[in-house]
Amino acid sequence: MLPSLVELIAKKRDGGLLAPPDIERLVQAFMAGELSDYQMSAWLMAVYFRGMSAEETVALTFAMLRSGRGIDLSPLRGFKVDKHSTGGVGDKVSICLAPIVAACGVCVPMVSGRGLGHTGGTLDKLEAIPGFRTDLSIDDFTRIVGEVGVCMIGQTAEVAPADKRMYALRDVTATVESIPLIVSSILSKKLAEGIDGLVLDVKVGRGAFMRDLSRARELATALVQVGKGAGKRVVALLTDMNAPLGKAVGNANETREALEVLSGVGPHDVLECTLALGAEMLLLSGKASTTEDARRSLQRAIASGDARRVMERMVSAQGGDPRVVSDPSRLEVAPSFAVVADRDGYIADIDALEIGLAAVAMRAGRTRVDQKIDHSVGISIEAKPGSRVARGQPLAQLHVRSPRDAEHVLARIRNAFRIAESAPAPGPLVLARIEA
Ligand code: URA
Repeated sequence: MLPSLVELIAKKRDGGLLAPPDIERLVQAFMAGELSDYQMSAWLMAVYFRGMSAEETVALTFAMLRSGRGIDLSPLRGFKVDKHSTGGVGDKVSICLAPIVAACGVCVPMVSGRGLGHTGGTLDKLEAIPGFRTDLSIDDFTRIVGEVGVCMIGQTAEVAPADKRMYALRDVTATVESIPLIVSSILSKKLAEGIDGLVLDVKVGRGAFMRDLSRARELATALVQVGKGAGKRVVALLTDMNAPLGKAVGNANETREALEVLSGVGPHDVLECTLALGAEMLLLSGKASTTEDARRSLQRAIASGDARRVMERMVSAQGGDPRVVSDPSRLEVAPSFAVVADRDGYIADIDALEIGLAAVAMRAGRTRVDQKIDHSVGISIEAKPGSRVARGQPLAQLHVRSPRDAEHVLARIRNAFRIAESAPAPGPLVLARIEA
């Protein structure tokens, strides 16, 4: 006789291994309403504490993948590659990276997510563009990828719907930071997209779900192994997420900054992260044979304006106002309110987690799935690590609807900046590359 669903929860609670058909049954029962949200939450917590074997992780990934139909992009010619970040603060890279890579002749079908915890989400940032729609049908998605080379939408019923529901439970039951749950969540979505290759940006540091390098390496290795096992070309970069990426945090603010990178004027670290990930995408697709070649192609796509034109076509095709691409100041960012340094010195560090939490408190992100966000609020960092500041000089600008909205996050933002006597030695942005 088959074990009951409660026995399967108890088996994982006690550290047992579940057979692939049992994992499939749990996910199917959850989707059919036979396993309740609280039972699934209990099972997720059991997985959080007990972990999963490689075989269980693969089984969970495929069970979640099979909860939807997947997207068939086989009618589109050419290599299709996507990039996925495990999430960070100020990480707007997808918005500039996807059109740059598409301008180099590679299809980029991208199914993105919303903000999770203190980390922002690409969909929320794109929706700051007036009229921009991320809820397209799969037919429209496929057509736009074919015509423009890139399209960015949210998860649909076809794309691993079990992940969407399990992810929502994990977000509110403190079970996000589990390697097998992250691997199955990311890969079930990505395998459903119809891609041939995937580049993963595994963020490491205070502002990431993986705080230390060894855990991040473990996550990246598991992602690469399961992705390759599913027949995809996969590579992961481990990148620093101790301080926010770039200067802009908050939805419209970050989209502005990503559009500036498309025009060649964005902050150096955002450009560097974009080029490093983009080079991997071109290498996987066979459009470049060396990293140097790949970086040159990406830089040419920016300098020639091709990447900007691809972005304009994508924004138009998705119902948005394409004028924002060459004039990002059209995006509404709330009025600024300065946070100033309380002493002279060098910026030794900016705590990405504190900045991310402050942004959520300002309503740039959510604490509940059904919460409305304000696209125009955010934080602009004025003094990045290494810069010299004098007492009274702005560390950051808060974009708020009224000065009163700034008051409750002011101390948090100021404390996120550590000011020291001397400048810190700059660390690398890309910490490691995992291919096998
Ligand atoms: N991103 C995802 O898609 N899933 C996770 O579980 C964490 C980050």
